[in-house]
Amino acid sequence: MWKNIEAAPADAILGLTEAFKSDSNTNKVNLGVGVYKDENGTTPVLSCIKKAENMLLEEQITKGYLPISGNAEYGAAVQELLFGSGSEVITSNRASTIHSPGGTGGLRVGADLVKKFKPTATLWVSSPTWANHKGIFTAAGFEINDYPYYDSTTKGVNFDGMIGALNSVPEGDVVLLHVCCHNPTGADLNDDQWDDIIESAKANKWLPFLDFAYQGFGDSVEQDRRAVEKFASAGIDFLVASSFSKNLALYNERVGALTVVSPTEKEAKVAMSHIKKIIRVNYSNPPAHGGLSAKIVLTDSALKELWLDELAQMRDRIKKMRKALVNGLIERNVDQDFSYIIDQRGMFSFSGLSDDAVNDLKENKSIYIVKGGRINVAGLTSRNIHYVCDSIADTLNN
Ligand code: PMP
Repeated sequence: MWKNIEAAPADAILGLTEAFKSDSNTNKVNLGVGVYKDENGTTPVLSCIKKAENMLLEEQITKGYLPISGNAEYGAAVQELLFGSGSEVITSNRASTIHSPGGTGGLRVGADLVKKFKPTATLWVSSPTWANHKGIFTAAGFEINDYPYYDSTTKGVNFDGMIGALNSVPEGDVVLLHVCCHNPTGADLNDDQWDDIIESAKANKWLPFLDFAYQGFGDSVEQDRRAVEKFASAGIDFLVASSFSKNLALYNERVGALTVVSPTEKEAKVAMSHIKKIIRVNYSNPPAHGGLSAKIVLTDSALKELWLDELAQMRDRIKKMRKALVNGLIERNVDQDFSYIIDQRGMFSFSGLSDDAVNDLKENKSIYIVKGGRINVAGLTSRNIHYVCDSIADTLNN
């Protein structure tokens, strides 16, 4: 069957990790892969999750299937996190939430759902965006277009370009928006810009699909969801794919959600009925362990407090390393201004390093950065920061 078929290319980011693993340089640093690392360079299980898992194992009396949409309390906890407790969207039952296998699963179920009812819609993504967005929606049968997002001169959002493009998106098309901690640029929208985007969605009747993979990695759980709350108040249809991979560090448990918000409870019920059909013929129902562990953390007040504390520690460490990188480069008299790295949010930074510099750092210094210059700031630690700054200075000054 495969004799005349060419092998598919390896995933660019995961391929970089393979190269990193086989590098024997003891100073090697991986700034490519998108997982949080602590000061020791590891991706630990959060204490709140360890405690929840112990409780879960104690209490669990069955491995029977979960409902197609997942555990109901998990869905309710997700909604509370997305919209805030007591939100009108929740009290009016206008949101339908399912536990998806990670944020990726939420995006794919949502993509299949939209494709089914808007078969000719095009998907619009930011330029640039997380590479898998295009893959997921292409696999679901979408044509993809992009809207301007990053301005490499100002190192911020090209909002005029963005809103201009969104105002000419045809009625019925779908627009994917990163709620916070934009991957790969780290450049986010402000409140006024979100207001303009919501106006554009209403006026031009395109469908917003929000990707919310980093809640709590920007400023706080509450601050980071402001755009979601704004969409909820607008009373329009929209979708949110959210993830606990990063903020609960549940990467390999595949814990995420798809939430479809509708103008009325009646429509939300119709949406849910179709989401369930899509899941049933795909993976049937979600895995239990990670979602139930997340549910315990989110519904137990002591564990939730512990989680918010652990989340703040991850966020603060990333911010600290942003400053250390920028200051380290200033101290080494690097001409290029990198100060914008401090203002970028979340785990990633569009560093501004050219592909030549990225290549030089990999070949000669064993520092692994994704082509295009995206750095995972969480890959920096107080142990490797001096080596990284020395190496970047060496590469740029020579
Ligand atoms: N969206 C974005 C922008 C992401 O960066 C990621 C993770 N890299 C995801 C969605 C999905 O993550 P997961 O499926 O691991 O929850």
